[in-house]
Amino acid sequence: MLEAPRRFGIVDRPLPVADSGEVIVRVAATAVCHTDLSIYTGDHPGVRYPVVLGHEATGVVDAIGPDVTVVRPGQRVIINPIISCGHCDMCRRGSDNLCRNAGLFGREVEGSMSEYVRLAARYVHPLPDYLPLAAATLIETLATVRHAQLRLDIRRGEPVVVLGQGATGLLHTRLAALAGANPVIVVSRTRWKLELAERMGARYAVSADAEKAVSEVLRLTGGAGADVVIDTTGGAETLRTGLDMLRPGGRFSPYAVSHACVTGFSTFPLYYKEINIIGSRALVAADMAPSIELVASGAVDVAPFITATYPLNRAAEAFEEYERNPGRILRIVIDSAA
Ligand SMILES: [Zn+2]
Ligand SMILES: [Zn+2]
Repeated sequence: MLEAPRRFGIVDRPLPVADSGEVIVRVAATAVCHTDLSIYTGDHPGVRYPVVLGHEATGVVDAIGPDVTVVRPGQRVIINPIISCGHCDMCRRGSDNLCRNAGLFGREVEGSMSEYVRLAARYVHPLPDYLPLAAATLIETLATVRHAQLRLDIRRGEPVVVLGQGATGLLHTRLAALAGANPVIVVSRTRWKLELAERMGARYAVSADAEKAVSEVLRLTGGAGADVVIDTTGGAETLRTGLDMLRPGGRFSPYAVSHACVTGFSTFPLYYKEINIIGSRALVAADMAPSIELVASGAVDVAPFITATYPLNRAAEAFEEYERNPGRILRIVIDSAA
């Protein structure tokens, strides 16, 4: 339990019991992402402490409530952490990620950095038995990336630029390559991330910051610019430089969550080049099964994403390391079974 920013405590609780429509999941693994880090440091707006973190989680169904039929005890599952009410106007449209009463597992409700969690059965999705549960935690992130790319509607042969090659940038690179984008151009200042990006299907790996990469992107696209630029770095500056990389009519994805204000930016390029800025938020439940299939089929290899693993009772050390070296880490996994 995160009692206050940068202060974890270990709390004993009775084993939860499943009510009707609910399941108890014995947690196997939780991946820690930038959202968790910002809650840990106190930089995430609107969080009430204490909070049990953890929203990218896999486990095994331990018990089910009386009327649950979608999963059975012993089944391996991944959790969809996007809490939605199911009855507001946005939920009724299938946009459960935009629910008027939305929350996040591990923020508004208690998360998976625990041995057991209790949640509604509709939030768990079955995993094939052969997928390692630690690496499978990345499927949640993959689902958010998939959600963004469906909105971008990447077409075969379109040049696509991905700024930043952390976990989400690498997954964007992989899905853009699978969508037939050509070329996929990635931008990062970190050599090992660029090498990994090439394994994910990037054709050109540009070692530079975004500002310096503009001329290189224009050169690699024969002067035309890219059809799609996806920003996974979240810097305010990358909005302007990202738009400079686009061809007229291009699409820009401000994928990374950012609260930074953009200064010195005018809407003129949106008019002049008829640019589309396409937002995307988290994932919808319908993104989960196809994302599980992308990993189960081997199309997306999530094994290289785990930088380090810590047992649950050493979660504090995991967060200290993540805060010290955010650029060196793709995902830290908290092992609830250790
Ligand atoms: Zn996350
Ligand atoms: Zn709703």
